[in-house]
Amino acid sequence: VAISRQSEIDIGKGWKVGDPVPYAVLTKTFSLIEATTKRLEKTSILTSFFLLVIQRSAKGDFKSLLQSVYLCINRLSPDYVGVELGIGESLLIKAISESTGRSLSTVKADLKKEGDLGLVAMNSKNSQKTLFKPKPLTVPFVFSNLREIALSAGHSSQAKKVSIITKLLAACQDFEAKYIVRSLEGKLRIGNAERTVLVALAHAALLAEKEAAGKKWSKEKLASRLEEAANVMKAVYSELPTYDLVIPSLLEDGLNGLREKCKLTPGVPLKPMLAKPTKAIGEVLDRFENKRFTCEYKYDGERAQVHKLEDGTVGVFSRNSEDMSKKYPDLAEQLPHCIKESTKSFVLDAEAVAIDKTTGKLMPFQELSRRKRKDVKVEDIQVRVCLFAFDILFLNGEPLLQKPLCERRRLLREHFQIVPGEFDFAKSSDSETTEEIQTFLEESVKDGCEGLMVKMLDTDASYYEPSRRSVNWLKLKKDYLAGVGDSLDLVVVGGYYGKGKRTNVYGAFLLACYDADSEEYQTICKIGTGFSEEMLQAHWDTLRPLEITKARSDVKIGGAKPDIWFEPKIVWEVLTADLSLSPIYTAAQGLVEERGISLRFPRFIRVRDDKAADDATGPEQIAEMYERQALAQSSKSGKKGKG
Ligand code: ATP
Repeated sequence: VAISRQSEIDIGKGWKVGDPVPYAVLTKTFSLIEATTKRLEKTSILTSFFLLVIQRSAKGDFKSLLQSVYLCINRLSPDYVGVELGIGESLLIKAISESTGRSLSTVKADLKKEGDLGLVAMNSKNSQKTLFKPKPLTVPFVFSNLREIALSAGHSSQAKKVSIITKLLAACQDFEAKYIVRSLEGKLRIGNAERTVLVALAHAALLAEKEAAGKKWSKEKLASRLEEAANVMKAVYSELPTYDLVIPSLLEDGLNGLREKCKLTPGVPLKPMLAKPTKAIGEVLDRFENKRFTCEYKYDGERAQVHKLEDGTVGVFSRNSEDMSKKYPDLAEQLPHCIKESTKSFVLDAEAVAIDKTTGKLMPFQELSRRKRKDVKVEDIQVRVCLFAFDILFLNGEPLLQKPLCERRRLLREHFQIVPGEFDFAKSSDSETTEEIQTFLEESVKDGCEGLMVKMLDTDASYYEPSRRSVNWLKLKKDYLAGVGDSLDLVVVGGYYGKGKRTNVYGAFLLACYDADSEEYQTICKIGTGFSEEMLQAHWDTLRPLEITKARSDVKIGGAKPDIWFEPKIVWEVLTADLSLSPIYTAAQGLVEERGISLRFPRFIRVRDDKAADDATGPEQIAEMYERQALAQSSKSGKKGKG
């Protein structure tokens, strides 16, 4: 299938081996991907494109594939390096106007009509009469210009950005302007999740190896080899999430060598392992029946993955792999105190928690969230931070992901030491009975924690699973036990204008969950109560710049009718007392029933600025919550019936 689509994609006139990848071929690929909602088809189109790039690259050239991959996921560097696009609308309007000779007001009017600046740019370009054909754009040229735009800062940077964008737009043909503008905005909108890119990359590499060796495989063998390749790629990337290292190795060592070569490396943050929620201690015991497990305090701070390289460099990374070293210079300063002499390089998984300088008591998460994100000076720091380490993933040159937790915990305690107020091990208890767990849970809450994390201790079930929400880690929060309800992380996708006193702000919001499989946002509820005036003002300030007139194509709207739509970007933690089936909202449609699931009486808890929109709660979790609730209700009514 992949190979049969190559002729459709290969529109780069005379693209020969060793030539730079024509940008027209990439944008043709984008337009084909955008035209389908089927994930398998998206994968196969992308596979064809990557295969072409591999086959037309000169020996030793890995940049062509690397840059093509980055442009496909609309990034210019790994997350932790943070070279980001996200050019404001007004700057882009200016550049479109300058390069096409149309007035600012016409471009703005078009935007209002189309709701997509990319389309406006493309239509403006295509209606323009040009005397001569511009020199075709290439992937390396576009990539290096986008980087230059992203990196330019300071006084004259605005003018410089407009001039580069104008130059790029002037050279655009066909679909190119549409995608260049969307890239610049920071949203490609073709429904191309990173998982699709990883699978396509693996498939393309395998097909290239197969063709080069002239192998003939049966349909069944091909299918199983493709699946195997995708699994290798996903496993490698979850340990070493940087294309800068994975792609050169893929091309040089092939899929076989990749697994050996690309392993967890200090300095490259991996996506953290996550936990499944549980509602009752009984549920924990059911899930971990006859297995050894441990309970740890669930600290209420910010996740911190702390890396130390052999050369002494220290890096602190967030849950989303952002570099937080500038937010926590105090952590880097404190770190040497807790490291024993035998400890040369490591990766720790830990929680950074605010503590009261005088009493040493733990303080809530909000204390830390007040900190600036950048350029924090140690002498200005008011709130002290203590690191509670709960896992070690790499030690002295060796990855530890595939060692049982009891072994990792032993190594952690052996190679680090407690420094009061600066570093400690997460408090744990290997309790076994309901009573013991209940006592430890109460103790954790008394000490200012959110509850407990319960983790498998032995066997391969206790290996560290990067980027997975695993059943081998359960979270037991005090809120769940109090029967307050479930907490979900949801994306704000729409707004309703306020009434009465609230006419200058949004009075209510439309929320959505995120389905990573279909790469779409599914609406789940309208939320309008529980906000103070100040909160509403703050939400207005954050959301107003994200307003769009039409819903994005990856929002599955259902019957919701907000007054205005937002770019899906902001994540809120929301509590609900109850979930119900809904004819209006689309969350988890088809999982429990044809109808979707909605939240009843949702209540806003806090903004989760440590989460990106695609980290939001997924439909399977929502279906699980609904089913658990239904089960609890039927057992309650069963009891009533008996008694
Ligand atoms: P939450 O809303 O509960 O923070 P989350 O989606 O960020 O959810 P979960 O997997 O649900 O992540 O909960 C684990 C989080 O709890 C971790 O990301 C980490 O920040 C925090 N945490 C605190 N103490 C521990 C611990 N002992 N072990 C693991 N994680 C811990």
